Parts: sequence; C-alpha cells; structure tokens
Amino acid sequence: MSHVETGTLYVISAPSGAGKTSLVAEMLKRDRILGLSISHTTRPVRPGEQDGVNYHFVSREDFEAMIRQDEFLEYADVFGNYYGTSQRWVEQALAQGEDVILEIDWQGAAQVRRLMPHCVGIFILPPSPEELRRRLTGRGTDAEDVVERRLREAAEECSHAQEFDYLVVNDQFDVALDELLAIVKAQRLRGSAQQQRHADLLSRLSSS
Ligand code: GDP
Ligand code: ADP
Ligand code: 5GP
Repeated sequence: MSHVETGTLYVISAPSGAGKTSLVAEMLKRDRILGLSISHTTRPVRPGEQDGVNYHFVSREDFEAMIRQDEFLEYADVFGNYYGTSQRWVEQALAQGEDVILEIDWQGAAQVRRLMPHCVGIFILPPSPEELRRRLTGRGTDAEDVVERRLREAAEECSHAQEFDYLVVNDQFDVALDELLAIVKAQRLRGSAQQQRHADLLSRLSSS
C-alpha cells in the first residue's frame, strides 16, 4: 500500500521588522514544496497588500464568529489586533504531504507547539535593536505610533526566542535565507522521513 507522507509544519516568529515576511517570500520562490498559511487578521490593510494574498482581512465581528465556530488552529491578540491561523487549511495541506510555514507571533507559536509537538520552530533575530528600528521605520508601512508600539513589544517577543528549535540572525539577507533553506533541507533528510521515502530501497538493500 502506498503511504502518503505527512508534511512538516514550520513555525516562524520574530519581532516585527526583523525580516520574516521578506525571507519567507524568498524561501517560497526557491522551494516549491513549501506552502505558506495565509492568516486572518483584523488589522488595517497596508498600501500594497491584497486581501487573500498577504492576509484574509476581516472585521472583529467576523473574527469573533470564527473563534466561536472553532475555525482557528491558534489565534492571538497582537499589537491590539486579532491574528489567527485557519485549522482546516493547515490540516489539509499537511495531510497532502505539503510542508507548511506559519508566520505567527510567540503566543500563537506556543499554542501550536502544544497541539503539534513535531512542528519545527524557527526564531528570526535582527542584528541589533538600532537596525530593527531602521527596518521598521524604513519599511514605511506603519504610522509612527504603530512603529513605536511594535518596538516596545519587540523585547517581549525576543524573550521567547529560546522556546524555538532554531535561531537565525537576519543581518545579511542572503546568509539568513541560506540558513533557513538549510534547516528545511536538513529536516527532509531526517531518518524518519527518509525511511518512509526510501522504504523500497532500504528493503532491497537489506534483503540482498
Ligand atoms: P509584520 O510582522 O511587521 O509584517 O506585521 P504584521 O501586522 O503582518 O504581523 C504582526 C504580528 O502578528 C507578527 O508578530 C506576526 O508573526 C503575527 N501574526 C501574523 N499572523 C498570525 C497568526 O495567524 N496568528 C498569530 N498568533 N500571530 C500572527
Ligand atoms: P517582518 O515581516 O518581520 O515584519 P519585513 O520582511 O517586512 O519584516 O522586513 C522589514 C523591513 O526590513 C523591510 O523593509 C525589508 O525589506 C527589510 N529587510 C529585511 N531583511 C533585511 C536585511 N537583511 N537587511 C536590511 N533590510 C532588511
Ligand atoms: P519585500 O518587498 O517583500 O520586503 O522585498 C522584495 C524582495 O527584496 C524580497 O523578495 C527579497 O528577496 C528582497 N529583499 C528584501 N530585503 C532585502 C535586503 O535587505 N537585502 C537583499 N539582498 N534583498 C532583500
């Protein structure tokens, strides 16, 4: 009987502005087996963002209705807005053998770790607090008070870095990107995954 392999779930967190969205976008271009879960959020749409592409943008009422209907694998209040991950989408993608990335905050990561202990946690750090400020301001997508709030909350986010399996410092973009792709590659080479993938080869070699 053919065995359908279950995909790996990657949970990526970082303080706002560390570069996770740019890094993940580039990972998806380089690795066609990776899929990104598109979260639901109640935060306002930024210029250039599209509903259904960056996020599913919904009202607070609709989000709260989804909570009541148990539609979220996890959700959290981040910087005063709700953010949540669709349980159905993630479960279907994993069941089809896709590797799935969640770009979520530390509170959501903790919930997912409890529910899916085999997930792989990656935390992305900026090279310094000064550079984090430069990136958040330089991105030019958020009002000044929003930037200040995100910077204040960066310390809280970073204090959870040790709960993750891997730490990547995003100083030089291409170095951080290579490190993230190496984590994915190493995960796919783990004995448990390879033994399923190469069951026929192993059985031929061990019976010859
Ligand atoms: P950015 O991270 O600076 O680009 O800002 P966003 O407004 O896109 O995201 C703000 C925070 O919400 C980040 O810490 C994200 O990781 C987090 N976030 C996004 N989607 C989800 C989600 O589905 N669940 C949870 N728990 N957090 C999320
Ligand atoms: P996050 O999703 O973590 O909030 P973004 O991916 O939006 O972060 O990155 C924040 C800003 O920093 C963007 O303007 C992005 O182009 C820039 N950036 C990302 N990585 C680097 C890097 N290694 N060096 C300099 N700027 C970067
Ligand atoms: P975005 O608009 O998503 O932030 O970035 C657009 C593209 O620029 C991304 O696909 C990413 O490859 C690249 N990029 C973003 N920031 C940097 C950076 O600091 N250095 C380099 N080399 N490329 C970047």
